[in-house]
Amino acid sequence: MEVLKRKIIEEGIVLNDQVLKVDNFLNHQIDAALMLAIGQTFAKLFAEDGITKVLTIESSGIAPGVMTAMQLGVPLLFARKRKSLTLQEDLYTEKVYSFTKMEESEVTVSRKFLSPTDRILIIDDFLANGEAALGMARIVKQAGADAAGIGIVIEKSFQPGREKLLEQGYRVESLARIASLTDNQVTFVPDGAG
Ligand code: 5GP
Repeated sequence: MEVLKRKIIEEGIVLNDQVLKVDNFLNHQIDAALMLAIGQTFAKLFAEDGITKVLTIESSGIAPGVMTAMQLGVPLLFARKRKSLTLQEDLYTEKVYSFTKMEESEVTVSRKFLSPTDRILIIDDFLANGEAALGMARIVKQAGADAAGIGIVIEKSFQPGREKLLEQGYRVESLARIASLTDNQVTFVPDGAG
């Protein structure tokens, strides 16, 4: 997605060779017009997949997630992050290791919002090691629902998340794929690369 790549080049900050900061338009301040374009792009990619609900994780997945849900005419459901608490029976719970916070947290979704007839589109802001996306996919499985695919705004292709998701049979659609963040520079994976 060219407009997204341009935004990353113009406003992204390479913190180190592993982490990109995009709090100008995605992780803190939000570029609403860009989020709408992102939602339209995901909705087009998954238009034929019978999506009944979009699932993301708070908080940075909510903006692209809600725009995608709006375009598809379905609800957005966001998993909540919380520190380990005693198990609650009305929740689906999965442990997810956070790439940026370097700690494990539990993500939870109320059982009443997922059912076996759902076809879920999972959306997240970044893909690094795949922990967040796989945690959401496990929640979808727990509910007996189907994951139609995973939509990622910014994929860091030099980290193993994409391969892990593909290995498990998930369809992955990333709008910007970063090949490298070395030397303070963002290099993208060429379009059409596998
Ligand atoms: P994963 O679970 O795939 O290892 O990491 C994805 C999650 O970590 C995303 O939900 C995102 O919040 C965060 N994340 C991973 N890498 C980056 C990054 O380079 N920049 C930012 N801002 N967040 C990241």
